[in-house]
Amino acid sequence: MRNTGYYSQFGGAFIPEILVPTFDELESAYLEAKDDPEFWAEYLELMSTYSCRATPITRLDNLSEQLGGASIYVKREDLNHTGAHKANNVMGQGLLTKRMGKTRVIAETGAGQHGVATATMAAKFGFDCTIYMGAHDVARQRPNVFWMEQMGAEVIAVTEGSQTLKDAINEAFRDWVTNMDNTHYALGTACGPHPFPEMVSWFQSVIGTEARGQMLERTGKLPSKVYACVGGGSNAMGLFSGFMDDEDVELVGVEAGGRGRGTGQHAARLAYDDATIGVAQGYKTFFLQDRDGQMQDTHSVSAGLDYVGVSPILSHLFESKRVRFEAATDDEVVAAMQRTVRHEGLIPALESSHAFAQAYAEAPNLSKDEDILINMSGRADKDIFTVADAIDDPKWREFIIDKAKGYQQGMNQ
Ligand SMILES: *Cc1c(COP(=O)(O)O)cnc(C)c1O
Repeated sequence: MRNTGYYSQFGGAFIPEILVPTFDELESAYLEAKDDPEFWAEYLELMSTYSCRATPITRLDNLSEQLGGASIYVKREDLNHTGAHKANNVMGQGLLTKRMGKTRVIAETGAGQHGVATATMAAKFGFDCTIYMGAHDVARQRPNVFWMEQMGAEVIAVTEGSQTLKDAINEAFRDWVTNMDNTHYALGTACGPHPFPEMVSWFQSVIGTEARGQMLERTGKLPSKVYACVGGGSNAMGLFSGFMDDEDVELVGVEAGGRGRGTGQHAARLAYDDATIGVAQGYKTFFLQDRDGQMQDTHSVSAGLDYVGVSPILSHLFESKRVRFEAATDDEVVAAMQRTVRHEGLIPALESSHAFAQAYAEAPNLSKDEDILINMSGRADKDIFTVADAIDDPKWREFIIDKAKGYQQGMNQ
């Protein structure tokens, strides 16, 4: 165990001896890049020409009026290439991979969004790419697997264990141990062993830095509250970092409440009190686990928030009370998304809609001269199957049935 990368008692790097040199190499490369203003300039240049940075902020004119309280602003991370803030992390790690002279990247993915983002980065930089994905997820997420393969990535369906995200993470580490010389593991969120939580948060800090300047320019003051959804915690860390030193800005993290408190079917590690502190997947944080340290099954309507652990930096900010944690249930989330689509013409991802749900619940109780800011971490194109099912749209069902019939009759070939 190495003694770096702790945020009070959370974090660390609980890794096998054989990976220590690789983590040392990564940490040095990250620290050197962080000290090199040219690296950040290159990163910003890449993100502005390949991924729509700086992303704008949008005021929700109609809903601010309807809710009758604070003015609601939205940071538009949905406008990134591949549709979410994930691009900030993977493109940064791509530049770092190049800097380390490596030629191959690997990644874990659950629903496939991080897999698509990593495959995109690999295609752009000319790296070989292998994506580990639980066999169950491969079966459920064909559209994402399709694009990863089109981009030249090899998608490996992991048939160990529960055949989902945590098994994919284990396989990715196994690959890394055998291929450390030429391979970088582009981990997808602000979790895992040091330096990943800190490094991923650094790449995502571009969100908060931009947002703080944009709010000041637009409104002449800072927002009173900022909201972000929390899966692993990377988009939240990105937005929050811009306001961390502004004591008057309340930071609100919104987790997946799933079917609600007390149901055991959620992924709220900090907002509910079911999680306990433990060490797994190479780091120490709050996990949803039983007394023997067995990871529990989590549930959320949004695949991207459906995870047992949480960023160790956020566990620290939870204990020190710098960040307030709340949870939104599946039903609240779908309603918040529909409301945003209907009245603003914006289509927030189910993950992001958790932050919207919480902000909508609080806005009416705030004064009209307050501003609040929501991070729209991504767009919902990927969620069309889930949302159409959740609201049970009959025309959508008809469309799917017709499409399937067409394939059976060979009409779509
Ligand atoms: C993956 C994803 C998330 C969850 O990841 P964090 O690391 O918690 O930010 C949130 N929103 C969207 C749109 C995602 O794709």
